[in-house]
Amino acid sequence: MKCAIIAVGTEVVSGDIVNTNAPYIANFLKPYGIRTVLQMAVEDREKDIVKAVKRGLKKADLVVTTGGLGPTYDDITKKAVACALERELIRDEYSVEMLNAYFRRAEKKMVESNLSQCYFPKGSRVIQNPNGTAPASITHTKKGTVMMLPGPPIEVSALLQTEDIRSYLESLKKEEMIETTLKFFGIGESHLEEILSDYMKKEKNLILAPYAKTGEVQLKITAKGETKEEAQELTDSLKEKLYELVGEYIYAEGNVSLEEVLLAELMKNNHTLVTAESCTGGMIGETITAIPGSSEVYLGGVITYSNPLKMKLCSVFRETLEEYGAVSKGTACEMAEGARKNLGSDIAVSVTGIAGPGGGTEEKPVGLVYIGVSTKEKTDAYRFHFVGNRDKVRRLSVKNALYLALQASKELGMSKK
Ligand code: ATP
Ligand code: MG
Repeated sequence: MKCAIIAVGTEVVSGDIVNTNAPYIANFLKPYGIRTVLQMAVEDREKDIVKAVKRGLKKADLVVTTGGLGPTYDDITKKAVACALERELIRDEYSVEMLNAYFRRAEKKMVESNLSQCYFPKGSRVIQNPNGTAPASITHTKKGTVMMLPGPPIEVSALLQTEDIRSYLESLKKEEMIETTLKFFGIGESHLEEILSDYMKKEKNLILAPYAKTGEVQLKITAKGETKEEAQELTDSLKEKLYELVGEYIYAEGNVSLEEVLLAELMKNNHTLVTAESCTGGMIGETITAIPGSSEVYLGGVITYSNPLKMKLCSVFRETLEEYGAVSKGTACEMAEGARKNLGSDIAVSVTGIAGPGGGTEEKPVGLVYIGVSTKEKTDAYRFHFVGNRDKVRRLSVKNALYLALQASKELGMSKK
């Protein structure tokens, strides 16, 4: 089943408040097999809302609106929905009773405009609001179904959790859905897409969504089936194929970051890590220490931005710097090895490069980065030429350094066994 979500509110469209309701609703509906295919945000203008509802009903079977159910003059969602569905608005007496009771309890006086929130398109199922006064509603018509929810997020979540709405959503469930995420490193999005394209065409019950982030590709696999087992089978066979074709690029399953995977690997192997950073200026250390518990395996690091500090803290040879320069394979190797020995860890990674925008030469262009890795078994450095501005070059350096540290821990762990 497909869904369209409409956020109603001038303040949402203008950017004064962030539309958190739409993703919340979309995610809430997923386990019920409801896929959101369209999101809109419209101002508190009746005409705009009517248009959006009509458009939503064309694209989807269910339209969910959020906002504009309250008693103030700009709360006109129900009027607009009634118009789009060609239903008259009628008063729900139970809601009037509940509203009266609310005002009695709160010892407040009810004004006429409050009653406006007790009107619903004819034939609607009205759901009382556990966290506010504006009730929600579900209206079925031949054109499709419209669910109206209020605007405040705590009211939205409370209403979606009500037995009424959950049982309604449950009744829609015709298919089961399983979502899996695979995380790739070192493979381009287009390369992956090429491999996936055959599958995308063949299997209509598989939705594959690759999404590229700095240096990484995340692949979201959504499998559908009449039963959970069927969806799982579909997922498993695709995963098997992917591991066979591009398994070496898969570093994790599920929603975990590269740094989390690295830390887990270090902990599993009982390895400690240190960093020696030049052009990343501590960003690797920052990324690692952002994860709680990293102190168990990450001992610390040095920022050796200048040549004298590279020599002093990482024991880089003066000759290496003079002959090959700070941005060179030799320096990266010596930085890593020196840091490992001087700081006393099992693994060390080092980064030295030209982040730009200045400082590049023909021989050593902006984006040239060497990443060194040292363990007691071997020390090596890898050459990269990243394309992008200073920030991007630095962030790509961090990601690749984390990845190389992960590989080093795996290799070292293996050789121990
Ligand atoms: P009320 O009875 O509180 O007026 P309402 O249904 O009329 O409820 P709105 O007036 O549209 O809701 O919005 C009330 C508040 O809810 C907004 O000021 C805003 O803080 C929050 N809100 C509205 N829409 C959204 C949205 N799409 N995402 C997140 N918050 C929202
Ligand atoms: Mg309001």
